[in-house]
Amino acid sequence: MTAAIIDGKIIAGELRGRVAAEVARVRRDHGLMPGLAVVLVGHDPASQVYVRSKHKQTQAAGMLSFEHVLPADVAQPGLLALIETLNRDPAVHGILVQLPLPKALDTETVINAIDPAKDVDGLHPNNAGRLAGGLAALSPCTPLGCILLTKSVHRSLEGLNAIVIGRSNLVGRPLLQLLLNENATVTIAHSRSRDLPQLCARADLVYAAVGRPEMVRGDWIKPGATVIDVGINRITDEGGTTRLVGDVAFAEAAGVAGAITPVPGGVGQMTVACLLVNTLRAACAIHGLPPPAV
Ligand code: NAP
Repeated sequence: MTAAIIDGKIIAGELRGRVAAEVARVRRDHGLMPGLAVVLVGHDPASQVYVRSKHKQTQAAGMLSFEHVLPADVAQPGLLALIETLNRDPAVHGILVQLPLPKALDTETVINAIDPAKDVDGLHPNNAGRLAGGLAALSPCTPLGCILLTKSVHRSLEGLNAIVIGRSNLVGRPLLQLLLNENATVTIAHSRSRDLPQLCARADLVYAAVGRPEMVRGDWIKPGATVIDVGINRITDEGGTTRLVGDVAFAEAAGVAGAITPVPGGVGQMTVACLLVNTLRAACAIHGLPPPAV
């Protein structure tokens, strides 16, 4: 293996530390206590794990954490009424509705109901549109984390060739915009793209956000490139044991890349830390304070 491992656990821990310090400062100087409300509909075990982790990390950063668990069969007006209450609650600066929602609920309507100023998941069309227009916006947390991980390797992304594989609203599209803001030259690929290996071969920065285990092979990677693997896929080995792998064939790619994120221990660690950043940013913006130094 030649690549340096980009340790998401350490980088996320440092980020949480900076958030906690800024939370303490705005509390001391402005009497502001940032608050995050997380809404979970139903009892999906994976979502429960995420929500618990968000709750613990929010509290550890010194912020208020509000958890709302609704039954899986909640009617849409009930969920919308809760969001409206949270929109009006001055103790709440960030609202996150845990996705995916049960099929009977319309995700787009639910996201659109969140006050854009409190939309710490960055999925409201106002924020997505502002980000696409190069304006200040709350950005989705996973792409934000990808940028911070990249910057742990490259002080500047200016002029670097980046490829983003995947064009979801949650990851690929906002990542494209954030990379443009950093003056990278960006190619975005998807299921209809032709000759992915050749597209990747030009890239100094490779972002894989596909959801296909180990799809990106080592011989696709330009020697010395930085590889950020967003994918989280659970696979079952021949012996029947399950394990998590990314969208990149790690061992192969690590033999060629300059730096690479592991799965687990890479991007996943950054997502909740960036949620804390967004909540602090939202609280400062709502109270007319300058953006926090995180
Ligand atoms: P998604 O909404 O399913 O989007 C997947 C994207 O990959 C789509 O744009 C799709 O193209 C593209 N794609 C599918 N097959 C492809 C192929 N053969 N070649 C090239 N592109 C292909 O997934 P997502 O929500 O963005 O998530 C992607 C992965 O990241 C998943 O493994 C997910 O678990 C993981 N994830 C991790 C975190 C984290 O915190 N680490 C957060 C979010 C997601 P089309 O648009 O053409 O269909």
